[in-house]
Amino acid sequence: MLDLSAVRGFLFDIDGVFYVGKQAIPGAAETLSFLRSRHIPCRFTTNTTTRSLQTMHAELVAMGLSLDRDEIFTAPHAAVRFLRNEGSPSIHLVLNSNTSSEFAEFPKDDRHPKYIVVGDIGDGWNYPLMNRLFAMVMDGATLLALHKGRYWQVAEGLRMDIGAFITGLEYVTGKAAVVVGKPSESFFRLALDDLGLPPDQVVMVGDDLYNDIDGAQRAGLRAILVRTGKFREGITADSTVKPDLIIDSIADLPKLLR
Ligand SMILES: [Mg+2]
Repeated sequence: MLDLSAVRGFLFDIDGVFYVGKQAIPGAAETLSFLRSRHIPCRFTTNTTTRSLQTMHAELVAMGLSLDRDEIFTAPHAAVRFLRNEGSPSIHLVLNSNTSSEFAEFPKDDRHPKYIVVGDIGDGWNYPLMNRLFAMVMDGATLLALHKGRYWQVAEGLRMDIGAFITGLEYVTGKAAVVVGKPSESFFRLALDDLGLPPDQVVMVGDDLYNDIDGAQRAGLRAILVRTGKFREGITADSTVKPDLIIDSIADLPKLLR
């Protein structure tokens, strides 16, 4: 059994843990209230790049999930930090318009950019686009992947994620992408710094075996997998990634802390 007595803070994944589709997971709001009543600091992390932070925050509040905007850590946020550290180089965006606005401060170059920022564009992927990105990378651009997700859960089931396209471009160019979202260690470090806690006092809770569980464990945190969202019993059983604990849903967290 995972000993949570020394835990002073939590990192949470949002999608699949607090909600699926447009529905809050039963008990999610109550778990949030419990954590608030105990004054346990939390940060909420997401690789979602389909919506801006502002839109996402409004949707969460509408579902009855009272998160503060300042508590949410997104992959675009991590990418903006990365680009600022690089001296604000030129970029080409492969993002939907809602997320593109978060990169307004960087110069755009659609021919010879220093970085190509890649996120979710739904079914906008096709051969001409892939070939254009291939040419840019061969010409010296670096892929800056907001994440490299394998699949995610929608109402109809699992759906293939952008990790396949990033990996394909890495394969044909022979050049590795910079990945800034989960499971990159820098992403977890950013969230821990904001909590002001060391990794051994923080537990990550997520539904993604690779991005949440493996990523957090590699960054020195312990990690709890929930059986909601993209969780699949068979995939978990077959994986070399071993969560420190598996719980049915986020609703079960308070009783572990009593
Ligand atoms: Mg998730």
